[in-house]
Amino acid sequence: MKKSAPAPKTASRRKARKPADLSALLLDWYDAHRRKLPWRYDPGVTPDPYRVWLSEIMLQQTTVATVIPYFEKFTTQWPTVGDLAAAPLDDVLLAWAGLGYYARARNLHKCAGTITEQFGGVFPSDEAALKQLPGIGHYTAAAIASIAFDRPATPVDGNIERVMARLHRVETPLPDAKPELARLAAGHTPQTRSGDYAQALMDLGATVCTPRAPDCPICPCKDVCPAFAEGDPQSLPKKRAKPEKPIRRGTIYWLEWPEGEVLIRRRPEQGLLGGLWELPSTEWTALDADIQGPEQALGFAAATSISWRRLPKTVRHTFTHFHLELEVCHGVRAAKRKPKGTWVRIDQLDQYALPTVMKKVVQLVTSDPGPLFDRRPCAGRGP
Ligand code: SF4
Repeated sequence: MKKSAPAPKTASRRKARKPADLSALLLDWYDAHRRKLPWRYDPGVTPDPYRVWLSEIMLQQTTVATVIPYFEKFTTQWPTVGDLAAAPLDDVLLAWAGLGYYARARNLHKCAGTITEQFGGVFPSDEAALKQLPGIGHYTAAAIASIAFDRPATPVDGNIERVMARLHRVETPLPDAKPELARLAAGHTPQTRSGDYAQALMDLGATVCTPRAPDCPICPCKDVCPAFAEGDPQSLPKKRAKPEKPIRRGTIYWLEWPEGEVLIRRRPEQGLLGGLWELPSTEWTALDADIQGPEQALGFAAATSISWRRLPKTVRHTFTHFHLELEVCHGVRAAKRKPKGTWVRIDQLDQYALPTVMKKVVQLVTSDPGPLFDRRPCAGRGP
């Protein structure tokens, strides 16, 4: 779709018509301009609920561009919900690695098992029943009910909130405005083609009614949009100021066996990055001083006798609620007996479900071209 010049800030102030016929406008636009996505179906084709569900879980907090290769990988490897349910959880976590928010992958696997065992491999079409399944909340249940089963449900994501805030000139800041925006979106939902209506709103928000530069002159809703008429669409939706993210710090211990193996461990099932693999590390805390050394981080007393050296660069990663800065200490264990633990060949680390932050550590250690170590000792984060 060709982009035209953005709406002038001081556009001639015209009175917008009420957006009563919004769904009709959007459906006409959607038929001509919808995005071609691997989980989308042409009009008249019955959607496969498995593909709709899989795409909606992957799209939570994640962009379309990031999701596409993962969606294709999953549907090639596991073409049906039964195939996914039969896969080992480790395989699913490995295929998910890099997509983030790993609780989604564990719930995905659990949900596939429930659908297969309790529903005979058939997804329920009812929003309330969908909400009972692992990993399916209010939004995802509405998305599956409307897109896969054409039920008059209304999923409301950030794109749809933005479009509604502009089309109804809602001045209440987010997140307080959420219930009002959801009610407004639901008020326009048609009895048929509700899935297409929801996807039309999503596409409009993603491609035309964008956060900073809405392309109002090509928008199908421009004649009914008060934000366009007022010339300030980018000022909506208003948002409450977010608190700054805190910084947490920690130290990673990269312990090598001379034959090219490194010690890794699995994180606890519950909590951040649950069930994934990691290089041993201290706790990640907001404290300035270290509270743990290699002995506590690695879990064996002899860790203190290893000569640890610190890499000059740190690894930085941002999670939803905090920034993380990790120092990396490198040690080679040359004793006769290997300490207990999971030792893997460094060139086979890609066969383990490592989260992105740990992949950054692997990348740093295995490809550092500069002087490998600085001269400070590496017992925790002390000077
Ligand atoms: Fe968004 Fe502009 Fe369309 Fe209004 S006219 S819905 S602000 S793109």
